[in-house]
Amino acid sequence: MSAEQKKFKFNYIINSAACMACAACELECKDDAIFIDDTVNYAINQDNCKRCGKCFRACPSGAVERVANA
Ligand code: SF4
Ligand code: SF4
Repeated sequence: MSAEQKKFKFNYIINSAACMACAACELECKDDAIFIDDTVNYAINQDNCKRCGKCFRACPSGAVERVANA
């Protein structure tokens, strides 16, 4: 984890069990942080994510979750 990353107090993650793969989050993200991972699920690259919350607000199924960055 980079030093810059530690300034964020939370992360957004995608709960793949709730995700419908609608791509709304990917379309909203202007920082190229949302990608399809090795298990063919949407995921968030924390290094690119600016914590803007656009994906969180855009998701129709509540699959984007905000979690404390311990
Ligand atoms: S919080 Fe913003 S930057 Fe991070 S993945 Fe969601 S839309 Fe992209
Ligand atoms: S907006 Fe929500 S349901 Fe749609 S692909 Fe993203 S995480 Fe999955």
